[in-house]
Amino acid sequence: MRTPLAAMLIGATLLTSGACTIKLDGAAGDDPAPARRTASPASPAAPRTPAVDEAAMRRDIQIARQVVDGFWRRHWSEYFTGVYRAPLVRGGYDGNVPNSGPTCAGRPAAKNNAFYCNPQDYIAWDLNLMRAGYAKGDSWVYLIIAHEWGHAVQNRLKNSLVARQKELQADCLAGAALYGAAEKDRTLRIEPGDREELIDGFKVVGDDTPWTNPGDHGDAFERIENFSKGRTGGVKSCFAAARGGGA
Ligand SMILES: [Zn+2]
Repeated sequence: MRTPLAAMLIGATLLTSGACTIKLDGAAGDDPAPARRTASPASPAAPRTPAVDEAAMRRDIQIARQVVDGFWRRHWSEYFTGVYRAPLVRGGYDGNVPNSGPTCAGRPAAKNNAFYCNPQDYIAWDLNLMRAGYAKGDSWVYLIIAHEWGHAVQNRLKNSLVARQKELQADCLAGAALYGAAEKDRTLRIEPGDREELIDGFKVVGDDTPWTNPGDHGDAFERIENFSKGRTGGVKSCFAAARGGGA
């Protein structure tokens, strides 16, 4: 059951995320795309994913960027040293069209994936992955963006703060950012149904996309557990279990 949630925001203003290519310390990588794929000249691909309100989805994606960026910008100095810088956002690509996505260190973007490109400090996603989840509810796009942003955060930290299970830590940071935005910043409104959408997102869309591959990310249960840890415990809770943690 889908809760329409164009309403997931309150008063987001339109800002573009800072375009920053500065790479700070840290070497945590994420979700690199598989390096294999034969290049063939692409013809426009027909969408094969569920029909969604495309305009609404793109609006939600834009809002998610602003809300998550805003959260980290506002709260960075509560947890970390240094100055917050937003990652670049390369945005959506069509994974059905070979080589239409951005490359990361020369490797093509994978189909049905969303990723943070560590060496180039940018976030990108296959719009088909967004649509597949968005068909079940708009929370999905917020989750993906907050998770990938979590990797950008990790990349700005000392390695000792980055958990070995960095995917689960990114889920934790996603929970902290989204619920922090809702509860502290009031830039987001969590609606009835969002919780179920998030759980379904991890479970249902889960198993057949690289983005939720249990081998890389942990299973749905672990992912939900870590997202919830951030949701209830905030940013600090995402570092409690890291080796020698402390935020
Ligand atoms: Zn990830």
